[in-house]
Amino acid sequence: MTDEFDTTVYYDDDADSTHIEDETVAVLGYGSQGHAHAQNLADSGVDVIVGLRDGSSSREAAEADGLDVATPKAAASEADIVSVLVPDTVQPAVYDDIRSELEAGDTLQFAHGFNVHYGQIEPPEDVDVTMIAPKSPGHLVRRNYENSEGTPGLLAVYQDATGDAKQEALAYGKAIGCTRAGVVETTFREETETDLFGEQAVLCGGVTELIKAGYETLVDAGYSPEMAYFECLNEMKLIVDLMYEGGMGEMWDSVSDTAEYGGLTRGEMIVDETARENMEEVLEAVQNGEFAREWITENQAGRPSYHQRRTAEKNHEIEDVGERLRELFAWADDADQTEESSDQQTTEKATADD
Ligand code: NAD
Ligand code: MG
Repeated sequence: MTDEFDTTVYYDDDADSTHIEDETVAVLGYGSQGHAHAQNLADSGVDVIVGLRDGSSSREAAEADGLDVATPKAAASEADIVSVLVPDTVQPAVYDDIRSELEAGDTLQFAHGFNVHYGQIEPPEDVDVTMIAPKSPGHLVRRNYENSEGTPGLLAVYQDATGDAKQEALAYGKAIGCTRAGVVETTFREETETDLFGEQAVLCGGVTELIKAGYETLVDAGYSPEMAYFECLNEMKLIVDLMYEGGMGEMWDSVSDTAEYGGLTRGEMIVDETARENMEEVLEAVQNGEFAREWITENQAGRPSYHQRRTAEKNHEIEDVGERLRELFAWADDADQTEESSDQQTTEKATADD
């Protein structure tokens, strides 16, 4: 254990497998996270039953991987730990189906805090409610386990009815390979709010709008779409890779002095005070539940705005330009490898919508 960072980080030595070895885990869902948790748990010697709806297209895959499959309700009735790994938007319905099977002392285990934090799932007081959230897509959680590497993760305890919630969660984290790399302790609230804010303001929302705005500015000024694509989208990866490896310092050291001076003096003109105020607004809507209510309502209505925005994003000119360029250039060979994993995710997504 180390708390050299502000937070506590747990490793294999901090986790005691005896807290899970006699337990049965129901893994509900066999998508990105589900298939990885189920197989890693089973390979670690834990009894696993995968819970899937009758007729689920994932059933064949789970059985082919050598796992027992039952309905979510039947799996939950056998289990001491119910790991809820269906999509966040369907979790409340799946929970309604299985709640009668929860006994005192059982555990509800999550990989994201949304439904518990925003009150969409209200667990009974006599069960433990925990989170082990790998900070990576499921196929890497599985691959890293098979490679004897690990996947970093988060640990949180929302409700400790038995007094053993944290030890059991750590043992679960060990069984899926997370404590090999390190598990950081957090809370359901912190995990949920930082996750939503990050993906909205910086990662998914912020980055795509920044790229599109840069691209459109160049193209509107008469520059070629190909040049705009290279400058604003393709090179993003090179810059991000440097920061990932060695922080902003390594990135600034690697680019030219001209790029460094230009970036340091002009960056703040782009993400200015207004952009920061907008970020605060986005954070507030996450904190006060406004975003969660909007997304829940959007789902209940059949996702009209989601589908419309998704189509508009797919039809943006930068997507056509990129597709053509990626076919033309040699780095498309490299991209193939990344595509393999994103293909896998697409397949999993397709399964999720079945
Ligand atoms: P997913 O969309 O990949 O897969 C969900 C699976 O649930 C499907 O494959 C299917 O087997 C099943 N399913 C779908 N609809 C269902 C329904 N109506 N009833 C019963 N089963 C159904 O999901 P995921 O991305 O693995 O997400 C699971 C949880 O893990 C979520 O809480 C998510 O926030 C969390 N999480 C995901 C990632 C990630 O990278 N994908 C990372 C960390 C945490
Ligand atoms: Mg996320």
